[in-house]
Amino acid sequence: ALPWVALAQVQLGVLLVAVAACFPVQIPRTRYFIGVTDVFVFALLALHGAPAAVLAAGAEGLVGAWRSSQRLTSRISTPAAGSLAMAASGQAYGLLQQALVGQGVGSHGAMLAALCTVGLLYFCCNTLPLLAVVAAKNNKPLSLRDWAQSYGWLAAISLASAMLAGLLVMNSRQFGLVVIVVAVAVTAAVVALMTLSLRRHEADRAAQEARLAEAQREAQLNQQRFTAAFTHAAVGMAIVRTDGLTQQVNQALCRLLGQPSAALLQRLFTDVLHPGDAALFRRRVEALAQSPNAAPNAAPPAAPQGPGNAGDALDGNAFSMELRCRDGSGQDLWVALHCSHFIDPADALPGLIYQLHDITSRRLAEDRLHHTAYHDSLTDLANRSCFIERLAVAVDASGTDAEHGFGVLFLDLDRFKIVNDSLGHSAGNQLLREVARRLADSVRPGDLVARLGGDEFAVLAERLDNPGAALALAQRLLLALQQPLLIHGTEVQPGASIGITFSDLGYRTADEILRDADLAMYAAKAGGRSRVALFDHSMHERMAEKLKLEGELRRAIGEGQLSVVYQPLFDLEPYRLSGFEALARWEHPERGPISPTVFIALAEESGHIEALTHWVINQAVGQLVAWRIGHPQLAGGGAAVDMHVNISGRDLANANLVPVVRDVLQQHGLPAQCLTLEITETTLMGKLETALDTLAALRKVGVRFSIDDFGTGYSSLAYLSTLPIDSLKIDRSFVMGMSQAPQNVEIVRAVINLGQSLGKKVIAEGIETLAQLATLKGLGVQVGQGYLLSRPLRPEQVGALLGHKVSEPV
Ligand code: C2E
Ligand code: CA
Ligand code: CA
Repeated sequence: ALPWVALAQVQLGVLLVAVAACFPVQIPRTRYFIGVTDVFVFALLALHGAPAAVLAAGAEGLVGAWRSSQRLTSRISTPAAGSLAMAASGQAYGLLQQALVGQGVGSHGAMLAALCTVGLLYFCCNTLPLLAVVAAKNNKPLSLRDWAQSYGWLAAISLASAMLAGLLVMNSRQFGLVVIVVAVAVTAAVVALMTLSLRRHEADRAAQEARLAEAQREAQLNQQRFTAAFTHAAVGMAIVRTDGLTQQVNQALCRLLGQPSAALLQRLFTDVLHPGDAALFRRRVEALAQSPNAAPNAAPPAAPQGPGNAGDALDGNAFSMELRCRDGSGQDLWVALHCSHFIDPADALPGLIYQLHDITSRRLAEDRLHHTAYHDSLTDLANRSCFIERLAVAVDASGTDAEHGFGVLFLDLDRFKIVNDSLGHSAGNQLLREVARRLADSVRPGDLVARLGGDEFAVLAERLDNPGAALALAQRLLLALQQPLLIHGTEVQPGASIGITFSDLGYRTADEILRDADLAMYAAKAGGRSRVALFDHSMHERMAEKLKLEGELRRAIGEGQLSVVYQPLFDLEPYRLSGFEALARWEHPERGPISPTVFIALAEESGHIEALTHWVINQAVGQLVAWRIGHPQLAGGGAAVDMHVNISGRDLANANLVPVVRDVLQQHGLPAQCLTLEITETTLMGKLETALDTLAALRKVGVRFSIDDFGTGYSSLAYLSTLPIDSLKIDRSFVMGMSQAPQNVEIVRAVINLGQSLGKKVIAEGIETLAQLATLKGLGVQVGQGYLLSRPLRPEQVGALLGHKVSEPV
């Protein structure tokens, strides 16, 4: 019924709505679209009435449904619902406008008011049924509050569209349809711009969201990686709060400490540490917590430390140390612990992360090495290097502080070589171990006992006030050593000579001290067994002198400075030459004659005695054979003259003595019974253990023995009777004593009686006067020797003597 121009406008309007419906603008992050179609729908309503608006609403619904849904029902129901809603709203518009105009409202005002009201109505008709259907589907009551909340903004848009449409229609009535055309163009441009801008905005937002999601994913992965690394790490790990409570532990730590995690969590971490190390560890942790450059979690991933002493610092952010832990069974184990800052992302609290690994076996190996390096394997005492090191520390301390006085005791066992040679090495070792034990038991706590090597021991006694205290300690050690012990069934009485030196002499090196203590020990040894000597400076000179002489003696033996003199021995009843005693002489090119008491002792100490004895035996035997050849009466039957040679204690312990004696006798062709070996009583009694075998072997060869200096050694009579001894030589001191006091004669008588009761021949030496000779003869002495009878003679003097008949001095 409309004129064609209006009809064309309606058709164009519907087309415009359909086209505009193709370009809805989506509200970002919703399923909702807004469009400008409503403006044109409402404009059509105002310009051409409800039917035109219904057509437009239907077209809009159709295009919209076609775009958003595949379902036929939606494609039919949506345009239908739109048309119906507009049909109802259009009717309401017509009625409202007429009513308003009827009330005298101006046509423009009535149109605008009616359009606005219908805009809201249209919104309600469009949304309410839809919501009702959804609510019914979900079996929920229709909530008007929800409706207002979620669709309120659509109502506002509907209202604005209606108003805009009203204004457009008003303007077009005034200025013609051009206004509509311009509005359409402007709207299209706005829609296009809005769509573009929204899309760009949306793209930016999506990119940002993607980045955020990626970062979150990365953080989550990191957390997962950390958890996996923490849980399954081979190194024991713990996360500990600043108050020291353990927050988290991994399996490796539980294994390491042999405890379930429950026993470790929420407990003080220091509880698992060795009490001796816990305090130091706590100090290190506190220092770390207070360190100025403590940057939580910014600590560089410090590599686990290599072998290091407890307390290796890395920097302000972490530290490593080696310390002991207690495992579940109370056993100690060594661990290398690395500690660094840590922030738990879960509660953002600062804490510490500990990494621990077991280094027990390495530490044990190190300890063993250290022990081996500083201990003597036989006795488990400190060894020489350990002693020297400790001594060096003591020297330094005493240099700066007079309170730090110390004494060094140098011990040398008195009879070790004999035990070793006669009873074997295992016996020697047993003796050394026993001595070590006794020394260690007898020193004060804190004193260091060391075995310097062989049978030498040393004691470092620190914090001693004066040398007297060191002397007292030495006496105590001697007492402890004196107790006899049984080795392989033989009773051995250990003894030692002890040299002492004291720090008040102002030493600078450990070597100086040991050298002086050693010198003092030699001085002690020279004084006899089981003695103590305190070092003094004269010892240096004496020692230097002695060393020089020792060297000279060695040369003297090779260079013919030694000679032998022979002192004749006489049978007293009837008086006749019965033998000679060979006495060694040393004519020093510069010093002149040196007493045998000096150089024999020197030879014994320096080990030259063996060569000297062999040389003297060879000389003496050779000499006697030469005399026997020149004077056959010397070899005659029962009146044979024999040769006495002195041997020393060391010779008795020497396995070579027997073959040497046998060879010499054989070589010169002297009957063995013409050789008598003299051994001093003290030597024999001191070396009984080792001497017996040698004596027996020589006895087998046929050699005779005489006990020299008899009466001075307190021999055990029981022993004497069992020994293969032929004669006793009464010591010179008894002979000398006789002329001084009459009671001394009784002593000599007793000694002689003793010898005779044992069935031994009795010899008296040192006879210087006729009175002595007469007394001794009267007492029944068989053989005499002394200056009165003859001085020791050079071989050529003996030759002259042999040509004449000897006569008793009168
Ligand atoms: P001895 O074995 O007791 O030797 C006797 C010493 O007394 C000798 O001293 C001798 O010269 C000395 N003498 C002899 N008659 C008298 C006397 O009437 N009055 C005094 N006052 N002295 C007398 P000598 O030669 O100085 O020897 C000292 C010691 O040296 C010896 O004491 C002996 O133990 C040792 N000795 C000497 N030569 C050797 C040797 O070749 N080997 C060993 N192992 N020791 C030796
Ligand atoms: Ca002698
Ligand atoms: Ca003698």
